[in-house]
Amino acid sequence: MRHERCRICAQPIRPFMSLGRQPIGNAFLKSPADFAKEYFFELAPAHCAHCATFQIVEIPAPEQMFHDHYAYFATTASTVMTAHFARMAEEATARFLAGPDPFVVEIGSNDGITLRNFAHKGIRHLGVEPSANVAEAARANGVATLTAFFNPETARAIRAQHGPADLFIATNTMHHIEDTNGVAEGVAALLGPEGVMISEDPYLGDMIEIGAYDQIYAEHMYIWSITAMNNAFGRAGLEVFDVARNRHHGGCMRYHLGRKGVHAPTDAYREALAHENALGLHRPETFERFRADCERARARLTELVRDLRAKGKTVAGYGATAKSATILNWCGLSPDDIAYISDTTPAKQHSFAPGSHIPVVPPQRFAQDPPDFAVLFAWNHFAEIEAKEQAWRAKGGQWILPIKGVQVV
Ligand SMILES: [Zn+2]
Repeated sequence: MRHERCRICAQPIRPFMSLGRQPIGNAFLKSPADFAKEYFFELAPAHCAHCATFQIVEIPAPEQMFHDHYAYFATTASTVMTAHFARMAEEATARFLAGPDPFVVEIGSNDGITLRNFAHKGIRHLGVEPSANVAEAARANGVATLTAFFNPETARAIRAQHGPADLFIATNTMHHIEDTNGVAEGVAALLGPEGVMISEDPYLGDMIEIGAYDQIYAEHMYIWSITAMNNAFGRAGLEVFDVARNRHHGGCMRYHLGRKGVHAPTDAYREALAHENALGLHRPETFERFRADCERARARLTELVRDLRAKGKTVAGYGATAKSATILNWCGLSPDDIAYISDTTPAKQHSFAPGSHIPVVPPQRFAQDPPDFAVLFAWNHFAEIEAKEQAWRAKGGQWILPIKGVQVV
């Protein structure tokens, strides 16, 4: 569905650019027979001049986006993220759960990657996870989990049964949920008077600074900023009082929110907000500049790859990430340009990348049939991947970093 109005404040919005016809970034195709019935939508981001929320205007139907056959289990995905969430739980427990018998609620709790850290300490907790098989995995991990969508009704039912929450967590979740206002109202209904919400997901400031337009895809309906979080959650009487940045997923922000006036704003919050204002995240010119950056990156990447191919060089892709679909389809790259994409995820191997139809293959192919150049779609894991591919690098293999400036390294 295409929105003419901001989904937070209902003021009219207009996209500042179009990334063209795009498939769903995680909809890998099993066989060429599936190509003809592939689903496409127009990927067009807008920035609301009124409430500063960055959002895509056309949202595909949920059944197009969340397929049964592609279930994402967070704990098996990355040891780095497992450690990251364990540390978050540790810090939050010390800082916000000092009272008697605290209660923690997490939405989009997945298989319990974060909540199990509270469960292990015997802290009362409840996960709210809409996908049934993932919720089942959480229960098997000893994490109490409700299979439901979080909205004001769910929030009130949880409060009636368990009492108010001291801590409410949403990691890599708020950018996936279309009804932000419903979540904000639910959080306000569920939190105790001094309760705290922690939300963490990709940060608009990082995306603008590094020109990472591949953060924009169907499931990333919003890219949040401090200003936009304050405006969206402010409608329900909540405000941000502390933040912390980290490098995961190409740059994330952690927001701490409480009821207005309850928690004193920290220096980190004031500094990050000042940086955000200096970046101009509230100004339309900033997004015009971002659009120009994206267009330059597209021209440079397509010219570079076609030039290399014309010279007889081989080019592969590395990491069949959801964000790679945005780049490949916006740049119009095909299997003639990029022979294959190497990926370690078994569920993605032996399939075709959405839209571009480039074959996705296991890493053995990369080892046996090494390309002269590899477009690093998983650019946010550069250091880790660089260390892993030393043998290929020693033989002269070169990376192409596909975003801002498009570098060959
Ligand atoms: Zn708005």
